[in-house]
Amino acid sequence: MERITHWIDGTHWSGTAARTSPVHDPATGEVTAALDLADGAVVDQAVASAVAASAGWRRASLTQRARVLFAFRQLLAERAEDVAALITAEHGKVLSDALGEVTRGLEVVEFACGMPHLLKGSHSEGVSSGVDVHSVRQPLGVVAVVSPFNFPAMVPLWFVPVAIAAGNAVVLKPSEKDPSAPDLMAQLWKEAGLPDGVLTVLHGDREAVDHLLRHPDVRAVSFVGSTPVARHVYETATAHGKRVQALGGAKNHMLVLPDADLDLAADAAVNAGFGSAGERCMAISAVVAVEPVADALVAKIAERVARLRTGDGRRGCDMGPLVTREHRDRVAGYVAAGVDAGAELVVDGRDVQPDGSPDGFWLGPTLFDRVTPGMSVYTDEIFGPVLSVVRVGSYDEGLGLINANPYGNGTAIFTNDGGAARRFEYEVEVGMVGVNVPIPVPMAYYSFGGWKQSLFGDSHAHGAEGVHFFTRGKVVTSRWLDPGHGGVDLGFPTHS
Ligand code: NAD
Repeated sequence: MERITHWIDGTHWSGTAARTSPVHDPATGEVTAALDLADGAVVDQAVASAVAASAGWRRASLTQRARVLFAFRQLLAERAEDVAALITAEHGKVLSDALGEVTRGLEVVEFACGMPHLLKGSHSEGVSSGVDVHSVRQPLGVVAVVSPFNFPAMVPLWFVPVAIAAGNAVVLKPSEKDPSAPDLMAQLWKEAGLPDGVLTVLHGDREAVDHLLRHPDVRAVSFVGSTPVARHVYETATAHGKRVQALGGAKNHMLVLPDADLDLAADAAVNAGFGSAGERCMAISAVVAVEPVADALVAKIAERVARLRTGDGRRGCDMGPLVTREHRDRVAGYVAAGVDAGAELVVDGRDVQPDGSPDGFWLGPTLFDRVTPGMSVYTDEIFGPVLSVVRVGSYDEGLGLINANPYGNGTAIFTNDGGAARRFEYEVEVGMVGVNVPIPVPMAYYSFGGWKQSLFGDSHAHGAEGVHFFTRGKVVTSRWLDPGHGGVDLGFPTHS
């Protein structure tokens, strides 16, 4: 049995873990590795190594830091297929999708390669007689990144390259369900020339996270995961004086207006509802159909769903298994609850015949129609391949439904009416909006983040907000003495 352990000080940890956790191949159900889980002592060791490395890394010139980023970018591009294979083996998503996540992560590395430009401050000459002012942004020191299972490469890459390029040392705590992609990427960082200790990969569960949240040498925490844990992370880490961005769960709606191209909308609903088996924070889980289009739209979605092939992600299927048996059973429980609550089950994924081992964690694409807002399939984040169609009578009713939802991560409108799209963009209370684009994940040079219970804290990930999050501002007011200086004046400094 393979053992997966922490990456501390530029090498794999040599200690013996008191607790381990099994890593599964979701397509076969097999346990493929035992993962070491960090206790408080290992967290302390990891943070101490990061503290020691951060002083030297902060002093490295912008050019030196950017060169490491460029080298890492090259290595990651060359090894993208290896990273993707690890993702498929532990997460279950199909290979093409895993490669897509690495590509989106690479874009953040490319953004962070421009850090010398991004960190440029401003300068004002002569704010007062002989006085100049300039601003700089400096790294925080040691920062922690805690990531979820559903994007084992991309979510760490939302934060790690930006934090490192800005001069911080990072302790990454990936999901315990799929730890191998982050482990390979840590080795690539070393190969790229990153000094030992600047990136630590610490494996663990709640015990390790809670220790990090309280650790006095951790200055900031970037968290991505479910809303209850995001809230806990935000409350605990801010109470311990840290800067926190905690991205939480989602329930994303796609509003389809009567004038929309229904074939485009049906394609989009299927892609965004069932890609990665619905285990995406930007997955569409509710299609809000403005009448009279619902009958036609449901028929078009059902026809496409019937053609999807569910199976082992290495076999060219459209959709893979769910991440664990427990999660598969939980999602199947929601399907049963939807039927009990009176929703119309158009396609039942529990009947799926997968192209894969009978022991995989399978659930096929499931489509409900006539879902109403009180049903648990609508209210809860299911995080699986279950798409619900909610029928509404008007744009206003659809908008009201979306704005009343406690989550506000992503949403999309499908229409050919530019005025309606513009109005939706203005009125909807959601952080990321697509117009005829079902998964509006921003490019790396914009920032990713939701509203309401999809984000605790006010900084979004990557882009300008990411750079801001991982640095703090300093403003320097300077006067170089000239022969005319001097004189005591107790008044508040003003410009003269
Ligand atoms: P999760 O909340 O169970 O775990 C996320 C991380 O927190 C993991 O590293 C895990 O080890 C750790 N963790 C789990 N329970 C903890 C606890 N009680 N205390 C401290 N740490 C804990 O989430 P998940 O199941 O890995 O990921 C799926 C969730 O992540 C979904 O809710 C999804 O919407 C969300 N997500 C959100 C975004 C976003 O950008 N908003 C992106 C990806 C995923």
